[in-house]
Amino acid sequence: MACPEFEDLILDYCEAAASSADRALLESHVAVCQACRDCLAQQQELDQRLAKSLAAPSLSPAFAPGLAARIAAERRAPQFLWLPRILDGIGYLGVATAAGYLLQQLPHAAVGVTVIAACAAFGLWETGKALRATYGHRP
Ligand SMILES: [Zn+2]
Repeated sequence: MACPEFEDLILDYCEAAASSADRALLESHVAVCQACRDCLAQQQELDQRLAKSLAAPSLSPAFAPGLAARIAAERRAPQFLWLPRILDGIGYLGVATAAGYLLQQLPHAAVGVTVIAACAAFGLWETGKALRATYGHRP
């Protein structure tokens, strides 16, 4: 029985999933702890037996061509790539409206108008980039 705090680390170590720091920690611990050293040895022996007795699963012959066709189809038709930019633009327009409304409540209305103009311009710029990207022009 391994020390409880090292049980998961022993499994990770055997699966090569432990970080280098964790590997070093476990290696220094098993150097002084017989229980964990035994547990690690048992786990490594079990892994070796399983690797010898279990054959790797094979894929059907149609898998590779099917996967290649699916990748090609997805490359041909990128869909809705423009949507995040459109939503970005709409978001900036929303921020412009809200910020402008709030700032116009203050005595300096010109500040609010400036914020509206800047956010609206940025929103329109983002939307324009999305449209250019959609219709094949470089943004
Ligand atoms: Zn231990």
